[in-house]
Amino acid sequence: PAPPPRAASGAPKPRLKLAVLTSGGDSAGMNAVVRAVVKTAIAKGCEAWVVREGYEGLVRGNAHETPEVRDARAHEDDAGFVRNLRFGDGELLKDGTGDYIGGRTLRNRYIVRVGWDDVRGWFGEGGTLIGTARSVDFRTTEGRQTAAFNMIKEGIDALVVCGGDGSLTGADVFRSEWPQHVAALRSQGKITEEQATAHHHLRIVGLVGSIDNDMSLTDLTIGAPTALHRICESIDNINSTAVSHSRAFVLEVMGRHCGWLALMAGVSCGADFIFIPEHPPSEDDWEDKMCDTIRAHRDVGQRKTIVIVAEGAIDKNLNPIRAEYIKDVLSGRLGLDTRVTTLGHTQRGGAPCAYDRIMPTLQGIEAVEALLEATPDTPSYMIGVRENKITRVPLMEAVAMTRQVATEIAAKNFTKAMSLRDPEFEETLEGFFTTSVLEKEPKLPHHLRMRVGIMHLGAPAGGMNAATRTAVRYCLRQGHKPFAIHNGFPGLLDDNLHPLSWLGVDNWMTRGGSELGTNRKLPDIDLGAVAAKFQEYNLHALMLIGGFEAFHALLILDNARKLYPAFNIPMVHLPATISNNVPMTEYSLGSDTSLNALVSACDAIKQSASASRNRVFVVETQGGKCGYIATMGALAVGACIVYTPERGIDLDMLRRDVKFLKKRYQLDQKGKAEGRLVLRNETASEVYTTDFIRRMFKEEGHALFDSRAAMLGHTLQGGIPSPMDRTRAVRLALKCMAYMEKHHAELLRQNGRMKQAPPESAAVITIQGSTVKWVPVQEMVAHADMKNRRGKDAWWEEYTDLVEALVARPQLLEKG
Ligand code: ATP
Repeated sequence: PAPPPRAASGAPKPRLKLAVLTSGGDSAGMNAVVRAVVKTAIAKGCEAWVVREGYEGLVRGNAHETPEVRDARAHEDDAGFVRNLRFGDGELLKDGTGDYIGGRTLRNRYIVRVGWDDVRGWFGEGGTLIGTARSVDFRTTEGRQTAAFNMIKEGIDALVVCGGDGSLTGADVFRSEWPQHVAALRSQGKITEEQATAHHHLRIVGLVGSIDNDMSLTDLTIGAPTALHRICESIDNINSTAVSHSRAFVLEVMGRHCGWLALMAGVSCGADFIFIPEHPPSEDDWEDKMCDTIRAHRDVGQRKTIVIVAEGAIDKNLNPIRAEYIKDVLSGRLGLDTRVTTLGHTQRGGAPCAYDRIMPTLQGIEAVEALLEATPDTPSYMIGVRENKITRVPLMEAVAMTRQVATEIAAKNFTKAMSLRDPEFEETLEGFFTTSVLEKEPKLPHHLRMRVGIMHLGAPAGGMNAATRTAVRYCLRQGHKPFAIHNGFPGLLDDNLHPLSWLGVDNWMTRGGSELGTNRKLPDIDLGAVAAKFQEYNLHALMLIGGFEAFHALLILDNARKLYPAFNIPMVHLPATISNNVPMTEYSLGSDTSLNALVSACDAIKQSASASRNRVFVVETQGGKCGYIATMGALAVGACIVYTPERGIDLDMLRRDVKFLKKRYQLDQKGKAEGRLVLRNETASEVYTTDFIRRMFKEEGHALFDSRAAMLGHTLQGGIPSPMDRTRAVRLALKCMAYMEKHHAELLRQNGRMKQAPPESAAVITIQGSTVKWVPVQEMVAHADMKNRRGKDAWWEEYTDLVEALVARPQLLEKG
């Protein structure tokens, strides 16, 4: 037989038998990975398989073949796409005994071919539906050889492994040994020469599924954001009882070698003190330091104390720091009524958050691409993420770096251990200290201290208050004076401006909405009067937190600098809007909170849609003239159609959509009701309204499907901000403050002359690809669609195609 085809770029991709397994501790988002891998594999013309129970399933293999399976296999060659859709039926054992996979009963079969519909709707569920295990046998060479044999027997050529560093180490060992296993199996006569040739190389790719976020070379592991959600929900709940009784709580969270969860939870929930393995307290008498910090907080009037401790927390001599001991210290030395709460396995569970649906989906797709492109000469990749971008990194390098963290900690090289974590980790740690420690003396000399105005503009968005709290605490630490400008520019003109205090912003991390009050009015309501107020209050810097209005306001102020010297101060805009429509940034505060609100609402709607009969729900989202929330929401909830203002709606489109829905419902299993979601941005079309589309679907669906509509409206602003919006608020707000400080110092150096602020001192903080970038507001103009109030380049627009690809729309429409 011919050797396996090599895929040069542009060359036809090989038709592989591609298997996916989940291994190690379960994490939310693993199901999204399996779903994305299966669907993408099938869409690319490959066969999709799953391995149940992790590596253990590979070792156990398939004991016997049922007549149904044999029958299904006989048709493999002519398995067209529609057949693939229902392929899982072929594997169904009907006697009701044995193990489950996605609701189907299987017995003694661990390497299972699956079809498109087998993985439908999986990503709303936590954990992993194909099972996971810690396999002792796979740790042995013999075990791995059996695994290789089982794979070759089934003809599997490529493997996606989703698990922690242990699982990925296993993956790498397996790949490096593969040729030896093939040779041994051949010499033992277990496989034929043809099989040996066809399987001379194993394509393998790793995805990091782990709640600890302990893998190097990736910002976030799959499941970590959901675990953080669970932790923050618990702490937010504990906060209210802590305040009521003026108690202290010591919370133990997961993380044996990695303090990511503890750190992010500490920042998101405004904890008073944290203990993490990578950064043990530098003092021998850390108990004194902790007590000093907490006493200072209590002295200014704080009624609650929250201390978060990672399960692997240590002191600088590597002795464990235990929650119970911290409790004893707090009650003994400070006389605080202290309780310990160990969050345990609640952290793993529950429905995945929006991020753990979208990112694993994108990573699963990338994993299949990487496998299709793999050659014997390319390294095995690990699919990771940097800020918002999916990356491929050599698997072994990532695993080695991760292992090194534990080694460095064991050798007490804590600085080195920290440097091996991603840059966000260190920045967030600094953010934690900045926002939690109440300094006795300001850090900056008098002449460098500023009076900083902080203003919210536009609609409220999750994280606005968290960003403000951070800015305020940074200001106070440095010696600046932070002022809240309430109700936007009209508020400023009404002298609605007040200094903010350390305690006054204490519980703002968890507050949704806008504590300052927002307003849409721009400064050109009366530029001269605005300038006069800047002068009257002697503002040295201005921080605008908001959406498109804030960007526009900054532009107006910058343009007016020539006329009004009062605007020659550093001014920054921190994007915060659920619509995520600020030009040039891929992320605005509040958009993650909003996506999570959308996911919860749609999960409930979908449940109702599937409960009685086939029903298509047309769900209307906010977002102004920007389809970001609708599109990313569609990806996060598995909607089958999305309507955005960027693409608009026309009759041809609607005709195709109806055809697609009919085709799809015709292929569904008989007797089982299926709910489907269609997401429509509120401004996608003036004519084809949500109600119009609902009525049209109902009319056209006849006996096949019914239709209903739901308007999510302001629920999308979300209640409590998501942990991601809170932690990013902290990071970005700190960068904003440092940026203004730097430009203020530069302006001070312009002695004697009329101060002229440079263009870059009026700038927007953006996230572009994998970096945080400052963009002068004038530079933003070229990228802004001022009429439609959005960026000209909608980077997320390609995801509309992905939404369609994940419901097999192109293939179904092609089928006529
Ligand atoms: P978590 O982060 O949740 O602990 P993990 O993937 O690190 O997940 P492990 O128990 O370390 O969890 O690994 C999962 C499985 O991967 C093991 O049970 C074993 O089968 C396999 N494995 C781990 N390390 C190796 C190795 N060095 N060689 C071969 N297989 C391994």
